[in-house]
Amino acid sequence: MPGKVLSVASEVVPFIKTGGLADVAGALPSALADHGWDMRTLMPGYRGLQKGPNASKVLWSVDDLFGGPASVRSCTQGGAAVLMLDAPHLFDRDGGPYGDPKDFKDNAIRFAALSWAAADIAQNGLQDGWTPAVLHAHDWQAGLAPAYLQFAGSSVKSVTTVHNIAFQGNASAALLGALKLPISAFTPDCLEYWGHLSTLKAGLVTADAVTTVSPTYAAELMRPEFGMGLDGVIASRSADLHGILNGIDLDLWNPATDPEIKPFRIGDMKGKGLNRTALLAEFGLSDISGPLAVIVSRLTTQKGIDLLSQAIPDFVASGGGLAVLGSGDPDLEEQLKVLAKAHPGKVGLRIGYDDSLSHRMFAGGDAVLVPSRFEPCGLTQMYGLRYGAIPVVAATGGLADTVIDANPMALADGVATGIQFHPVDAMSFGRALRQLSTLFAQRPVWRRMQKRGMTQHLGWATSSAKYAALYESLIA
Ligand code: ADP
Repeated sequence: MPGKVLSVASEVVPFIKTGGLADVAGALPSALADHGWDMRTLMPGYRGLQKGPNASKVLWSVDDLFGGPASVRSCTQGGAAVLMLDAPHLFDRDGGPYGDPKDFKDNAIRFAALSWAAADIAQNGLQDGWTPAVLHAHDWQAGLAPAYLQFAGSSVKSVTTVHNIAFQGNASAALLGALKLPISAFTPDCLEYWGHLSTLKAGLVTADAVTTVSPTYAAELMRPEFGMGLDGVIASRSADLHGILNGIDLDLWNPATDPEIKPFRIGDMKGKGLNRTALLAEFGLSDISGPLAVIVSRLTTQKGIDLLSQAIPDFVASGGGLAVLGSGDPDLEEQLKVLAKAHPGKVGLRIGYDDSLSHRMFAGGDAVLVPSRFEPCGLTQMYGLRYGAIPVVAATGGLADTVIDANPMALADGVATGIQFHPVDAMSFGRALRQLSTLFAQRPVWRRMQKRGMTQHLGWATSSAKYAALYESLIA
């Protein structure tokens, strides 16, 4: 029987977003509501967020949450509601959720406080009587919440979801006391990690179930190349590990109704061409003869951005074009600036974060490139599929699970939706880009791939049913 779930995340769409975690945390409540589950999401009240006019009365409060008073109220924005943890001494400051450009020094304390508040709400309920049966913790920022539940001997069930194992919430062991953690928990089979403590590891070992955001990433995480030191821990939980693919919000990402673009749909693709022309102009690109590829991404080596300098020159020489939107590693930003300068009219670059432009890019692009070295799920390849931009992806994680490679059999059967390549290096990426150009020139084949991708099942229906079944199995 469905019940109540407290989801805990450090970022939630539409309130604040730096990556895919926010999309997922924002989408889950309504997806779970379709299965009768009542999910509320607890997130920090960062500067500027908690002062909305819609905040309700206080639902939870303590006089001292890791150094200052804290309270929780329900806040709404654009039809979405969250439980916002107002703790000015921790969250009311400039500089993004984690500190920008440098991480805040007290992040371990800040997110331990979020986790502690979540565990307290899970055990004692909110002042309106709402008490969850399951606590669902996302990533290292919420990793201590299942641990606090376990240390308190609570019967509330818990789930930890790994959105990206590269971020592990490592902190000094000297903080144990400050984080309200028992010394007895500082062991290799609990939250000790190479002499430090890891909040993600804490979540992995103490939660009743562990999930990650694609079946392939779940398998990869048990291997040293992907597990980043936690592969053994993940393997020890393999009986309770579930790879559940992320979905995308089909209303926000709908080419037929998206207010940011000229609308289009299968059967009436005129708008796609208009978006392409507009995108070329927006990036100052010339009228290229080959495919216009787009990238919307954090600029990091995880995302394979360093491969572009080697792979793109041949691609543009054969008629392709590239538009990149992103920010991140200063060295990679510099590499891209050099690439754009070397190929005027062929390679365009926007450094920054721009949600509205990202919609125009998927709508105007012929292809979306995702050459990630690892990718837990990835969302931009799915936005590409939905908007008729053929994904060219590394065969890893959720990219491998969501894109059907244009191999000869898949092409013959008309089921291909994109191109996968492996290994993740400039040579095989270059080969994939050559295949992209070849397919682009074969118009009927290209159209069929586009159509297939645009009709692919990308929403939350299947995956939310899996989360619902998991919660149900925990409280049964
Ligand atoms: P990750 O969470 O590892 O960054 P995902 O593909 O799961 O990667 O999610 C990234 C999300 O952030 C997507 O919704 C993508 O469109 C968005 N995004 C990334 N960079 C930018 C940017 N510069 N401007 C706008 N949206 C961006």
